[in-house]
Amino acid sequence: MEKQIYQTSSFQSSWNEECAVVGTYNVDHAALKNYYALFSMQHRGQEASGISSSDGKQIYTHKNKGLVTEVFNQQCLQNLIGRASIGHNRYSTAGSASLSDSQPLFAKYNLGEIAIAHNGNLTNAKDIREHLIHNGAIFQSHIDTENLIHLIAQDKAPNLKDRIISALKIIDGAYGLLFLSRTKLIAVRDRYGLRPLSLGKIINADGSIGYIVASESCAFDLIGAEYMREIQPGEMLIFEGLATSDKQSSIPRITSLQIFKPNPHPCIFEYVYFARPDSSVFSQNVYSVRKNLGRELAREHKIKADMVIPVPDSGVAAALGYAKESGIDFELGIIRNHYVGRTFIEPTQKARELKVRLKLNPISNIIANKDIIVIDDSIVRGTTSRQIIKILRQAGAKKIHLLISAPPTIAPCFYGVDTPDSKDLICANHSLESVREFIGADSLGFLSLKALNTACGGKIFCQACFDGNYIDDYTKSKYR
Ligand code: AMP
Ligand code: SF4
Repeated sequence: MEKQIYQTSSFQSSWNEECAVVGTYNVDHAALKNYYALFSMQHRGQEASGISSSDGKQIYTHKNKGLVTEVFNQQCLQNLIGRASIGHNRYSTAGSASLSDSQPLFAKYNLGEIAIAHNGNLTNAKDIREHLIHNGAIFQSHIDTENLIHLIAQDKAPNLKDRIISALKIIDGAYGLLFLSRTKLIAVRDRYGLRPLSLGKIINADGSIGYIVASESCAFDLIGAEYMREIQPGEMLIFEGLATSDKQSSIPRITSLQIFKPNPHPCIFEYVYFARPDSSVFSQNVYSVRKNLGRELAREHKIKADMVIPVPDSGVAAALGYAKESGIDFELGIIRNHYVGRTFIEPTQKARELKVRLKLNPISNIIANKDIIVIDDSIVRGTTSRQIIKILRQAGAKKIHLLISAPPTIAPCFYGVDTPDSKDLICANHSLESVREFIGADSLGFLSLKALNTACGGKIFCQACFDGNYIDDYTKSKYR
């Protein structure tokens, strides 16, 4: 069968990648809590960060390029007054992105003021953008989320909730969305539940209840919030009743509306790689799922070796699972320098290669003259694995078996995870044997799709990057 080549650039207007969003409502120091929550989710986006807050009368925004700790200082957090806020971390992609592409997006329109934060990717954004521009809209950014501002502003409904619903009826794709008006916070998750979004509770100093909505539950832990539940696919939560005084709390009301018929297909890659292991996403702890991936890998790939070593940090939990199931010793044979960012984000191949060397260093004493099993979560371009095998050989490893705790990545993601076009996905274009040869391992094995699903709890997931079966109507219509 001829391979379908998927080009990400062919129908996406822009990148609005895997990001983190946080909303706080009726919360003491709402922006400060948002800041800590964003800090805990820095792994989901390192390019830019921003927070919008509201005191019931006005929306205040501060955003900039850089890490959370670089973007905010005490003064600007103090300026973000009010007891409600939304925040956003933007994922870093190849090439430069302007400040206007960072979020929250803010606009004044005929119902007042609005700020929006979005995690995910709107698949039909380019078509909608062209239509809006044709009808006179003037865009300020390159991001798909801006479509929502225009659709909401142009709608004739008398309230924000109905305008959001009308806008979302036009849009397809992946979203965890937060809207902040001067008095309300509205959270919506797409009908497929592709991106994670959870609800938590905070008890304020005076005993009143506040709420937090965040991409990952690790955000709750840092600020002492209690995990309540996942926001359901196709569900909208409306938080109302904000106190206008900074000091005074209120009794907020939450209304839940099922605005779309759910068609749940959460992103399986959140478990494989993206989410933090201490988070609960899609109602399961990520670390436990990753350990299961390792156990399944050991069942499918029985190899004789002296030790199992993870590629830190992404392969640690799976390697522990593999070691437990196989009875082979677990060793930390590679040490990671934590002060180097993710290698995947570097624009050129050369820079990516150097960054692997900067980030990972093997312990020769442990691995010299040993047969080792190395576990990582995925092979995308193959650059990282190739470099890792090279440095392990230099450190004296005798035999190197590379096992990947996921199936081969064969198709790009159109739902908000930064994967390159098919032409750059090594497994989309080469046989297992030629990938092994390129990487330089003595053997190479992947987890099967079936075992991946078993390890993740046997639900229905989106796994399009592993099987090419896209789930939203727009992408399906392009790649039938
Ligand atoms: P590569 O060298 O392109 O094969 O990179 C694979 C490595 O990048 C793996 O070790 C993963 O941990 C990591 N990785 C996989 N997918 C992503 C992604 N979407 N964003 C950032 N890093 C990723
Ligand atoms: Fe997740 Fe892959 Fe689906 Fe993208 S294509 S949403 S990365 S499972």
